Amino acid sequence: MQQPSLSALTSIVEQIARTGDPRTVMSNIVQRLRDIMHVEVCSLYLCTPDFQHLILAATEGLSPQSVGKAKLGLDEGLVGHIAASLSTLNLGDAPADDRFVFIPETHEMPYHRFLGVPLLHLRKLIGVLVIQGREREPFPQEAEAFLITVASQLAGTLSQLQSKGGWYEKKSTRGGYRRFHGLKGAPGLGLGKLWLVRPHLSLDQVRAACTAEPEKDKTAITEAIAAVSEELESGSGHLGQHLPGDLHALFNVYQMMLQSPELSQQITARIDAGDNAPWALKQTITAMAEQFRQADDPYLKARAEDICNIGQRILNQLISRERPSMETPDEALILAGELISIADLADFPLHQIHGIICTQGSTLSHTAILANALGIPAVMGVEQFEPEQHKGAMLIADGHRAECVLNPPAALLTEYRRMIDEEQRFMQGLERLRDQPAVTTDGFTVSLLTNTGLLADATPGLQRGAEGVGLYRSEIPFMIHDSFPTEHEQFMLYHKVLEAYAPRPVSMRTLDIGGDKQLPYFDITETNPYLGWRGIRFSLDNAQLLIAQIRAMLRADVDNNNLRLLVPMVSRVDEMQSFRRYVEKSVDALTREGFAVRMPEIGMMIEVPSAMLLLPRLAPYIDFVSIGSNDLTQYLLAVDRNNPRVSNLFDHLHPAVLVALEQIQQQCEALSLPVSLCGEMASDPAAVLLLVAMGYRCLSLSAYNIPRVKLLIRSISRESLSDLLEQSRQCSSEAEVRALVAPVLEQVGWRQDKRPNLPDEETEGAQ
Ligand code: PEP
Ligand code: MG
Repeated sequence: MQQPSLSALTSIVEQIARTGDPRTVMSNIVQRLRDIMHVEVCSLYLCTPDFQHLILAATEGLSPQSVGKAKLGLDEGLVGHIAASLSTLNLGDAPADDRFVFIPETHEMPYHRFLGVPLLHLRKLIGVLVIQGREREPFPQEAEAFLITVASQLAGTLSQLQSKGGWYEKKSTRGGYRRFHGLKGAPGLGLGKLWLVRPHLSLDQVRAACTAEPEKDKTAITEAIAAVSEELESGSGHLGQHLPGDLHALFNVYQMMLQSPELSQQITARIDAGDNAPWALKQTITAMAEQFRQADDPYLKARAEDICNIGQRILNQLISRERPSMETPDEALILAGELISIADLADFPLHQIHGIICTQGSTLSHTAILANALGIPAVMGVEQFEPEQHKGAMLIADGHRAECVLNPPAALLTEYRRMIDEEQRFMQGLERLRDQPAVTTDGFTVSLLTNTGLLADATPGLQRGAEGVGLYRSEIPFMIHDSFPTEHEQFMLYHKVLEAYAPRPVSMRTLDIGGDKQLPYFDITETNPYLGWRGIRFSLDNAQLLIAQIRAMLRADVDNNNLRLLVPMVSRVDEMQSFRRYVEKSVDALTREGFAVRMPEIGMMIEVPSAMLLLPRLAPYIDFVSIGSNDLTQYLLAVDRNNPRVSNLFDHLHPAVLVALEQIQQQCEALSLPVSLCGEMASDPAAVLLLVAMGYRCLSLSAYNIPRVKLLIRSISRESLSDLLEQSRQCSSEAEVRALVAPVLEQVGWRQDKRPNLPDEETEGAQ
């Protein structure tokens, strides 16, 4: 058997999977596989969402009428046997096998040789891939090896298609109740009507995509062209006689282009050939613009720009971005879309936004940071969710569990309403704690500081009783700029933050870009960004940026006197040595320039295991330590928490992380270095108990969580936690640690946010 090209197959499949509807993609897969492998039958069986049955999802060779209908129980027939045993089956005469079950609608009797392999993705059975032929001998070993490889390559794509639904006859998911998992964006619960936020898309950004419904696409194009024409008509009419003559002429040119039969004919022809409307539009406009550019006549040449302009207008109409109606200004909305930007949020009054659901992005995306700052529940990276299919549906954004619930049934809706009410009352009740210390019943005091990065969240931090800022993520203002901010721009910004918190301390961390924190105006493309040009490494290699930042911070501190500097992603002693030298030099230079600056305390983030192991050697160059438990967990466990394939392995209660944290605490005590912890761990009640037991006296967390964590600390005695800590030292998994801590939390009356489990839930997504 000739060796087919696997990479060609997978790249085609991935390309189709991004755009086509599940049925088309699946039938393309079996068709290509049958051709590549030179067999008579290739079929794909997929598990139903309840994992009770396998359904023929696509076939090339069996009766097409059986697709979506032929159904087997798990362990029923040869296909069921493969699913139940998770092993390959290669037979010379399938109908003669005891396990064979004949499904009349498939018409498969003439086929004897049978090879089936299970499809597994992330330990989960997706379905079974089968090839069949008329000969009466098993398939050769190479065919078996190839099919196993193909199955492993395709499982991820097929798993996505499987969860999209629409590939077999079942009750419509429209209007149906479903839950989707994503990644944590911002805590809280929100309930409202799904409001689709479409991305701003320029014609340049349109990518190749197939149409699933050509007639619908053609109508959409016709309507978009008509709408642009009307827009131009009313624009020119509205401006009337005020328009200069040459602009009148331009409007006429635009109208002529819009009305030209070539434009609509060419777009329609491309849609008929399989392209979707935006892609057909882009290709047509590009080709027409190119024709104009080729012209010798300078007047015609200049029309290239006009046709591009027209194309962009048609595209805007095609993906028209809706706004909430003025008649429903108080309606609660959950904004849903790929990624929702600051500009998108600005289209809505804040009180109307009850939640944010993004199908892309991660915990540290812009949107998540912004949602945290504004106190809006957010769930990120809900890959399986297709908001455009459910416009106007009722949606719950559950930021605590990182999930969204579509069309919740009445009982669940009532329960969520109760929880939202309870949460509001709970938070209001906590206001009385604002000026109280976070002290255990036996007198152990913990400072609670806040994490911030936007000016917008300075107020919530203060309102919720933050005793200062434990982590100011300076990259956030860099991320929402469109070029590196100047020293003066930075000075203005830092000054406002320091002033808002003075005299409380503010630890300003220098730029921490790289990994998943990218600047829109400075592309860093790396094979392994988490092990690359991140944090202090980037800053030291771009000393001009670092010096400007240090200078801006030092100047902002002049009349506030509350600045502390914090260095991210330290992994080597010489990094802290160099950083300290830059600060000393900046203090000297600014003093000479007449600024009354002072040498601030310098802190180091422990995020990389080497910084933890070298702590005694780093101590001479630092005044305090701040543990970034997010990155420390990531690097200790070698788990990228934004990677859905492994994010279930990311847990800061992993025993190795706890060992590291105890070691850091003890070393800092021995070295007389103040230590705080500023990752998400500081908001996890189970972790807080263990951290207090270890002796941590300072935590930095989002403003939203400060009152809860304060309440928890005030309701426990540290003494009573020492047994818990001792027992946790014996645990060998994070699950054991959580099971150990849960009863203690219950004992102090800590509310676990319980959600009722209703029958027939369909749960999808990462995790
Ligand atoms: C951390 O790594 O825990 C941390 C606080 O830094 P960031 O989340 O900004 O990477
Ligand atoms: Mg970090």
